[in-house]
Amino acid sequence: MNIDLTIIGGGAAGLAAALAASDQKLKILIIEREPRLGGILNQCIHNGFGLHMFQEELTGPEYAHRFIESLQEKHIDILLGTTVIDIQKKDDFHITLTSEKDGYQHLISKAVIIASGCYERTRGAVQIPGERPKGIMPAGSAQRYLNMEGYLVGKRVFILGSGDIGLIMARRMTLEGAEVLGVAELMPYSNGLTRNIVQCLNDFDIPLYLSHTVTNIKGKDVLEQITIQQVDDRFEPIPGTEKVFEVDTLLLSIGLIPDVGLFDSLQMQKSPMTKSAIVDQSLMTNVKGLFVCGNALHVHDLVDWVSKEGEKAGKYAKAYILEEEQRLKDLKSVIVGPNIRYVVPHMIDFNHLDEPIQCSFRVTKKMALGLFKVIQNGKVIIQKKAKYIAPAEMENIVIKKEDFISNDPIEISLEELA
Ligand SMILES: Cc1cc2nc3c(=O)[nH]c(=O)nc-3n(C[C@H](O)[C@H](O)[C@H](O)COP(=O)(O)OP(=O)(O)OC[C@H]3O[C@@H](n4cnc5c(N)ncnc54)[C@H](O)[C@@H]3O)c2cc1C
Repeated sequence: MNIDLTIIGGGAAGLAAALAASDQKLKILIIEREPRLGGILNQCIHNGFGLHMFQEELTGPEYAHRFIESLQEKHIDILLGTTVIDIQKKDDFHITLTSEKDGYQHLISKAVIIASGCYERTRGAVQIPGERPKGIMPAGSAQRYLNMEGYLVGKRVFILGSGDIGLIMARRMTLEGAEVLGVAELMPYSNGLTRNIVQCLNDFDIPLYLSHTVTNIKGKDVLEQITIQQVDDRFEPIPGTEKVFEVDTLLLSIGLIPDVGLFDSLQMQKSPMTKSAIVDQSLMTNVKGLFVCGNALHVHDLVDWVSKEGEKAGKYAKAYILEEEQRLKDLKSVIVGPNIRYVVPHMIDFNHLDEPIQCSFRVTKKMALGLFKVIQNGKVIIQKKAKYIAPAEMENIVIKKEDFISNDPIEISLEELA
């Protein structure tokens, strides 16, 4: 098979990328390992999706359906139940796929968009002491079992980590008849969206233990008991603060990591903060013709931003293949300033400033009031006040061509206001 553009992953990012790239002149292929398109949206049966894209509150499957419907009118091929297992770059990309139906297949593609989403951190990543019984699993897996397969994974549940998946599962398990005894969060603040704390914990009287972690697990075959403890400012458990819970299930909501390990063979430059590719505003990596978007690039809290990023990757991949844009790049870094964790894009190409650049980033700590600044050559070129800033919520600043005062690197920073 010879393809112009291969999109790996048919979730929100891959769907939006395909729609934006669609063109009669191009042979576009989406490869999705699941039997249906939609990605993680298929297991998110709660509402809250699409407020920015459609000014409506949709469920995950409803949101995905809007894109899948539009795709049917386009000239795009789709391989479902098919997994990409290898990719190499020669002049073009040589991709190996496998599926139950067709076995191994090879294809050659001029450009590739990675839209493979992210995976959940497991117990091994945080090294919780204690025994190794059944009943400990990532919250997203429990969500999939419940919402897609119809299995309630436990009756007495505790949740470690206050990421959005954990919060949503606290409510979901309660609604299905399980008792959720609490959520422990290592940090002094929650890692989930405020609306999820209110609607998923407070509304159901589920306690949130901030600055707490699980310090022991008991159970020979199945989980029987967990101990949580308060931690000090170096995250060390404080003796005497132990609380014991008799539970059969511990759900982990301790972080998501972009799922891009498969692409290490391409030697794409990575950021240690996002654990994914370094990109410029076109979302192209240092590997020519290789684009990354959505949760595969950095973990998003709202699907709307995933779709917008997918659209951008699709648009620029199309321009790359059609060679509409031949100018050489003039890449300069985006410096991560005080109180900022990371910024995407990591680089700005000053030879391609025709479109405003959306910089997406996360902060390192909670603030009641703060001032975001974009600085170039020591001068503030953009500033924006914001209230209730939190690491859990992604922030965005748009920089227009006329905002820049030179072609030098910019820095994004956050100052706390009293
Ligand atoms: C529990 C939960 C609740 C959420 N709640 C909200 C909410 O209320 N509102 C909101 O706006 N957002 C919410 N989000 C966030 C949003 O849904 C996600 O950020 C978004 O859907 C991610 O899209 P994606 O395309 O980047 O990744 P995914 O949806 O994960 O899609 C990636 C796809 O790639 C496929 N894939 C991966 N590797 C391969 C391979 N090698 N070969 C073939 N296919 C591959 C996967 O099967 C998957 O289908 C929530 C997310 C979760 C997990």
